Amino acid sequence: MLDSLFKPKAVALIGASTKELSIGNVIIKNLQRYNFQGPIYPINPKAPDIRGIKAYPTIFDVPGDIDVAHIVIPPPMVPQAVEDCGKKGVKNVIINTAGFKEMGIEGEALQNDFVARGKNYGVRIFGPNCQGIINSDPQYNAYCDFTFTYPKPGYISIVAQSGGVGAVIMQNLFDLDVGMRMYASNGNACDISIPEIIQYWGNDDETRVILLYVESLDDPKYFMDVAYEVASKKPILAMNAGRTEVGAKAATSHTGGLAGGKATDLIFKKTGILAFSDAQEMCQAAVAFASQPIPKGNRVGMITNTGGPAIIATDELVEGGCEMPPLSDKAIVKLTETMFESASINNPIDVVATAGAPQFRSAVDVMMDEEQIDSVYINFVTPPFVDCEAVAHEFAEVSNQKRKPIVCNYMTDKAQWTGTTKILKDGGIPCYDFPGTAAKALISLCRYNALRSKEKGVVKQFNDCNKREVENIIGNAKTSGRKILSALEVYSILDAYKIPSAGWKIASDSQSAVDAAEEIGYPVVIKADSSEIIHKSDVGAVAVNLKNKDEVFAKADEMMNKFSVKDLNFFVQKFHPGGRELIIGAKAETNLGHLIMFGMGGIYVEILKDVSFELAPVTDVEAEEMLSSIKMTKLLKGYRGEKGIYREAVIEIVERLSQLVTENPSLKELDLNPLLAFEDRIIVVDARISI
Ligand code: ADP
Ligand code: MG
Repeated sequence: MLDSLFKPKAVALIGASTKELSIGNVIIKNLQRYNFQGPIYPINPKAPDIRGIKAYPTIFDVPGDIDVAHIVIPPPMVPQAVEDCGKKGVKNVIINTAGFKEMGIEGEALQNDFVARGKNYGVRIFGPNCQGIINSDPQYNAYCDFTFTYPKPGYISIVAQSGGVGAVIMQNLFDLDVGMRMYASNGNACDISIPEIIQYWGNDDETRVILLYVESLDDPKYFMDVAYEVASKKPILAMNAGRTEVGAKAATSHTGGLAGGKATDLIFKKTGILAFSDAQEMCQAAVAFASQPIPKGNRVGMITNTGGPAIIATDELVEGGCEMPPLSDKAIVKLTETMFESASINNPIDVVATAGAPQFRSAVDVMMDEEQIDSVYINFVTPPFVDCEAVAHEFAEVSNQKRKPIVCNYMTDKAQWTGTTKILKDGGIPCYDFPGTAAKALISLCRYNALRSKEKGVVKQFNDCNKREVENIIGNAKTSGRKILSALEVYSILDAYKIPSAGWKIASDSQSAVDAAEEIGYPVVIKADSSEIIHKSDVGAVAVNLKNKDEVFAKADEMMNKFSVKDLNFFVQKFHPGGRELIIGAKAETNLGHLIMFGMGGIYVEILKDVSFELAPVTDVEAEEMLSSIKMTKLLKGYRGEKGIYREAVIEIVERLSQLVTENPSLKELDLNPLLAFEDRIIVVDARISI
């Protein structure tokens, strides 16, 4: 329960300052300006008062109980301050001061010190290196933060690891004239964590939408548990930075956590959190989420009183995966009665510029009644010759019925059409300045519906896998201090989990390579296998399509001369010409499990990076989705006479690989590249595993 943090009855500030331009002064100013409903206790050993409020030399001199104490003094003094707060019985401290874990070893030691003291006294710690919290509830008006936006009460709560991004999001909502419920930016998050905050807001009825910004998740498993639970109650919209490799590095050095990267987006998807890559788009979507119902499908009905913006919006909506189905005969009959003669009765309905309240109302009612329409997009320019307030009243009335979501591209001069603007706002109609922006917000609502209503599928459990054998192989490699497994070990692991590979044999010299080839049957492939050779074909360590013993002997001999490595062996394989090259891989993520990757293999991985990811354990539905979400997916199904590949077998390999890494967590990275895919079989011809 974070009630005492977000609903403080009294706030103290250790390090309060008379200097206007200091955090120790600004926090007091913010509390005053936001009309904090409880007493404020500035702590300062010298000043008798700060900003007109009586100050106290120490926290022990404060007469009343304290729910929240800010600490803004230099790092070395922070552990003692936390201890003092403990003795005083302060419930929470917000440590705004920076210079702890994010700064290296010394800072981390200080942080560990005050975390321990906090635990000892049962003081919850928010931060350090953070902004703080805001609660706009008029009962509290708690502005325990040093930022500058003073939001009106509302239904959107924001939690951001970075105060900078949090402030941008809060200010953007403010600019959109949309209220906010609560705010939290907890920086290093040494005690009170983002999942804990999300869980708290999950139970806060006034929070209808949660906005989240993260750079790294310290405890992804805990986050996932909370996200599953809260996302089933209310929409969580999230943005994760550090997607690119360069970005990921920047994130690590920024808050000293782990790099978010791909894993975080997969966690969002798996737990039903709607992901955004653009903060502004997320804010604009939040406005719609806060007042509109979630559509039941992606079919949009459009109403417009101007041509061009409707065309732009249609493009955007269709590109974003929405449909704009034609209207039913019944609807057309109805609209023929109510619309002006020059109106275009279709989807979009162009009510024309002279349309007033009766025409707009009829159009909106028809869209609400249409069974094949899930949401309504309104393009509304305010003609000076129309009673726009009357029109807005109709929109507001229909919106209040909450039957289907409405978004509005509202084109006007807000300084002149103040009445109309206010009616739309009070009616809870999300209004946007551009057709594309309104369309994107509606697309987000549709995306959310698709995400939440998606079938999850089941994780298939294969009972024919030999886990013991894999454990033995890994155990042996560990004992001998090896991190990269040999070809023999790799293929034995694949065999143990019934992942089909090309028939193979290991040979130690040219003659035994020939013997192996004779047994396998021509044509064959031989590969030089050594711990020192990583990318075999780059160095001429792969010879394909060898048709007889002479060719095998000659190639093996050539490789023996070329590679003067101690542990050289030959890996002899059946040659399988003509398949499509695929890649399936896995990568362990700290404190999370494995990511599974699927994509076009061979050179395509490097050039096109046409791959998709999922988090293990992968369900059957997710495995299928991995195949259908790459760009070249059509190619897999067969195209213009070319045969498709054996899809079910690929899906099963993805599922078996997912089981393999889930049951054997010490497998670190694994590449099956390529798998050769044919119409009737899938065969792994190259694989690498590190532990
Ligand atoms: P590396 O990735 O280390 O260079 P591979 O074993 O993947 O070596 O071989 C390189 C390429 O040779 C593969 O991408 C594939 O095109 C081809 N190849 C390898 N083994 C076979 C095989 N058994 N049948 C057909 N083609 C093969
Ligand atoms: Mg390869």
